[in-house]
Amino acid sequence: MTTDGTEQLFSHFHQAEWLRGAVSRRMGQGARRLLLAVSLLCAGLAGGQPAISQPSVSQPKPQLELPVATDVRLESQGETVRLAMTLSAVVPLKAWVQAAPDRLIIELPSTNFQLQPGARKSAGFVSGYRYGLFTADKARIIVDLAQPAILASAEVKPVRGGFGELSIELKKVGRAEFLAEVAKAPRAEPATLPPAVAEKRVGETRRTVVIDPGHGGIDPGTVVASTAEKSVVLGFGTALRDQLESTGRYRVVMTRDDDRFVSLSDRVRIGQNEKADLFISIHADSLTQAQDVRGATVYTRSERATDAEAAKLAAKENEADSAAGLESGEEVQDVAGILMDLARRETRTFSGVFARNLVDKLGASVKMHRIPLRSARFWVLSAPDVPSVLIELGYMSSPKDAALLSSAEWRGKAVAAVSAAIEDYFARERAPVGKAAEARQ
Ligand SMILES: [Zn+2]
Repeated sequence: MTTDGTEQLFSHFHQAEWLRGAVSRRMGQGARRLLLAVSLLCAGLAGGQPAISQPSVSQPKPQLELPVATDVRLESQGETVRLAMTLSAVVPLKAWVQAAPDRLIIELPSTNFQLQPGARKSAGFVSGYRYGLFTADKARIIVDLAQPAILASAEVKPVRGGFGELSIELKKVGRAEFLAEVAKAPRAEPATLPPAVAEKRVGETRRTVVIDPGHGGIDPGTVVASTAEKSVVLGFGTALRDQLESTGRYRVVMTRDDDRFVSLSDRVRIGQNEKADLFISIHADSLTQAQDVRGATVYTRSERATDAEAAKLAAKENEADSAAGLESGEEVQDVAGILMDLARRETRTFSGVFARNLVDKLGASVKMHRIPLRSARFWVLSAPDVPSVLIELGYMSSPKDAALLSSAEWRGKAVAAVSAAIEDYFARERAPVGKAAEARQ
């Protein structure tokens, strides 16, 4: 082993050891936090008031308390590819293969991935892999297969010092053998528990706005030059939340406010359960073929896309669940009936009104796409009773847009424009009576 390699190994070891020390130092604190949470909950029950008014999505553990994964290695030898990582603890593991797209899913307890950024990303029939939080208590590593392959072995071996060595071996097989293995795999379970229906808030006069930063956790969205869409849109979403909350006129609910995976159907459900007056999904697009295409676009949902590019984009955004290894999502069953039809038509009108507002306000302060208002079949906009729009902030594939998306000045201007559009929408004489208002009566 070279001196470099030894040093690298030592630094990973050192880091993991330090983190494990920190974990044990924090154990007392964790127990105290649990006690505090229980006593708060009891106080809430005794007072007849719900103790917590946020959506009941469990919080991921702080990064410091998680097992740490370091030193990833991917190598191919003949018909075999081996993937290995060093873990700061021995943890249970599940692994299985899925077809269309062909991939291997490895599931671990929540893990703090500190893998070296320059590590090899493909070898043999493995065309790539990604990793991240899947739910509050699970992490996933998803390995893309360019050719059919099955697991020869998958384990976390205990090694010296309480560490674990994650070791996965894949071997190339024919299509039929691969599909037989896929049939044995566990059925996909929903990624997160459906959030509970929000309590009716007596005396609540504020409008409810749900902000939906796209992607998250295991699903990075578009990645251009090591910047991930999931971080850009989370930064924008939280800035928009802060701006709206500072007015005192809105109850803001985030579908996620940290780096976690939320399935598309859960995002839609959060909007419905919170009886949102508006649902705003935030994304940032990319077009690898055309780096000169720039600007923000506002999308609404329609069965038929306004243009081919919009249709392609919606198809890509609808793949988010599949990127996390969920089986490809089926569209929420359309509820039939005249009332639902009326609701849907009304919702569509209001979505359109708000979208035009957004284009006006955004267009006055930031660069817009040539055709700034478009529509396509976005799954995340499918709630029949919540006016919903999706903003693509710009094209991460355009160097000019990419620079703006990471500039505080640009973000400030865009957040102010979106807030102004929201103000305007609710201030109109014919402001819609949303679900929240209905629930209040
Ligand atoms: Zn996106």
